[in-house]
Amino acid sequence: MIIQSVSQLIGNTPLLELPIDVPNGSHIYAKLEMFNPGGSIKDRLGQYLIQDGIDKGKINDQTTIIEPTAGNTGIGVALAAQQHHLPTILVVPEKFSYEKQTLMRALGATIVNTPSEGGIKEAIQKAREIAADTPNSYVPMQFENPANPATYYHTLAPELIADLGDQGIDAFVAGAGSGGTFAGIAKYLKEQNLKTKSIVVEPEGSILNGGPAHSHRTEGIGVEFIPPFFQEVTIDETLTIPDADAFEQVRQMAATQGLFIGSSSGAALAASLKVAEELPANSTIVTVFPDSSERYMSEHIYEKEA
Ligand code: PMP
Repeated sequence: MIIQSVSQLIGNTPLLELPIDVPNGSHIYAKLEMFNPGGSIKDRLGQYLIQDGIDKGKINDQTTIIEPTAGNTGIGVALAAQQHHLPTILVVPEKFSYEKQTLMRALGATIVNTPSEGGIKEAIQKAREIAADTPNSYVPMQFENPANPATYYHTLAPELIADLGDQGIDAFVAGAGSGGTFAGIAKYLKEQNLKTKSIVVEPEGSILNGGPAHSHRTEGIGVEFIPPFFQEVTIDETLTIPDADAFEQVRQMAATQGLFIGSSSGAALAASLKVAEELPANSTIVTVFPDSSERYMSEHIYEKEA
């Protein structure tokens, strides 16, 4: 395969039918999003957000792109902005991984760190302040831009239907950070088949299940406020997965399947296994593995105690 640009590698990722023991003889299929060129599911979002801004006349060839991000969206936005030669400022809470921040810089982005304690809310506030002081700037603002769920509605979700063909999807399981991945795909799958259950996944310390907000080690998922995109989608269940369970699946996937998954993928897998216990025998469960463990080596992802 000869390609002309790295951006052609975005999307159309493989769907792995996990060769593991699943409760009730069910099947778990995982979309391997670490195979995007920037290493995560958020390459799709970066490409879509920048193109959307161009199409809507909000970005011209001099515009500075500014975005608050936990990291993967920053890499995706920086990749897309680089293709269009647009300067990029990414506002990142300092706790997010060294690898992700290094990759953003390597792509040419400028990083502004906010204190970890302020969470994503402080990064959002800071991005708005920088934008107010930067002439001809554009903040895609993944946390409220409908282009975020639209990205997944138009790309990843149809890929699932194309790959699984006539095999119905009984449950869709995905983590939520901004909520774009879950909302876009859940909406599409419900339109295809009303019987598909949508299960959203969060770590302990995220607020969806009404628990107290606190920090967690699972990176990329967990919300500090209810994503606005959730108003348009049916959520059949919310599963809260402890960090220890997510990291256990991360270790298992490497040790038994030769697959390097990040901790949000580990949480998605732990949740999918729980869902399999609740569903009838022989069900088809689809989940998403957003990125690889390789960008969390500095956080000792394989050495974390349960
Ligand atoms: N996993 C990882 C590793 C991520 O970086 C993100 C994005 N923050 C997610 C899951 C969640 O995706 P979304 O923002 O679409 O909810």
